[in-house]
Amino acid sequence: MKPAPFDYVVAASADEAVQYLAEVEDGTAKIIAGGQSLVPLLALRLARPSLLVDINRIPGLATIESLSKTSIRIGALVSHRMLCEQTTSPLLSEAASWIGHTAIRTRGTIGGSLAHSDPAAELPVVAVAAGMSVEVVSPSGKRTISAEDLFVSTLENSLADDEMIVAVDAPLPERWGFAEYARRHGDFGLVTVAVAEVGGKIRIAIGGVGNKPVRALESEALVNDATSLDTQLTERAARAAASAVTPNGDFHGSASYRTGLVEELVGRALRQLALSRLSAMENWS
Ligand SMILES: Cc1cc2nc3c(=O)[nH]c(=O)nc-3n(C[C@H](O)[C@H](O)[C@H](O)COP(=O)(O)OP(=O)(O)OC[C@H]3O[C@@H](n4cnc5c(N)ncnc54)[C@H](O)[C@@H]3O)c2cc1C
Repeated sequence: MKPAPFDYVVAASADEAVQYLAEVEDGTAKIIAGGQSLVPLLALRLARPSLLVDINRIPGLATIESLSKTSIRIGALVSHRMLCEQTTSPLLSEAASWIGHTAIRTRGTIGGSLAHSDPAAELPVVAVAAGMSVEVVSPSGKRTISAEDLFVSTLENSLADDEMIVAVDAPLPERWGFAEYARRHGDFGLVTVAVAEVGGKIRIAIGGVGNKPVRALESEALVNDATSLDTQLTERAARAAASAVTPNGDFHGSASYRTGLVEELVGRALRQLALSRLSAMENWS
């Protein structure tokens, strides 16, 4: 199938892009960034925008800058490949390496992935675990939205029709873990888990078990109340996460299979986080 007809403009700045969006009053204008999610939807006519606003030539959106010793600002056009290659946030580098294949990682962007709000995507899970937020512009100004408030449901976000993500503010976790199970290399994960310790508090986010990434709050309470993350505690926290989720089954895996994956992957991610403390302590001595 071919896409339904649409108009196409190239924006020279974020202000111009959101002006284009605002001018289409019925909300049928769409931003195109890497096109790795939108173009398949256009080709299948699951999306029928009247106008595509290309943001790829806006200067300054494909850079990563340090905000402080504990956080970075990632431009909306930073590709998954750039995330893989940077070393400031090993959690983002690891997570991005699980996204699709080389061609997809080269074109796909962090802004596009977060805006697309696919509950099985890696970056939304990491964004929730690490407590990231997005900076958004519209003709009426700027605002900041936490990752948890950005994701509303499957492929649904809380952006207004005339809003565009320009940057992602990402805290740098002191310790982290990431675990995913996909049936084939490059597939979306059946279950994805990211854990991040930020400001001394561990947060656990799980993808693939609902219509947006979910936090394992009971497990977080268990690990944050304890003085050390030993094997028994890790197992208890993993079991608590599994009993708190209610995934749907599909032809990739039944609900109970996904629940089992949650227990396994939360355990793996927490063990990785615990080991990263050990190696930090080894470096001290
Ligand atoms: C074969 C294949 C396999 C894939 N596998 C994976 C995978 O394993 N894991 C994974 O996470 N993803 C996967 N993807 C999706 C990929 O990561 C996309 O790059 C990503 O979801 C969207 O980023 P994009 O820049 O391509 O956005 P686009 O496709 O250009 O846009 C996606 C949506 O976001 C909106 N948008 C884009 N940028 C902005 C912005 N700055 N502000 C507001 N709205 C914006 C668009 O209007 C559109 O609605 C796969 C894609 C393909 C084709």
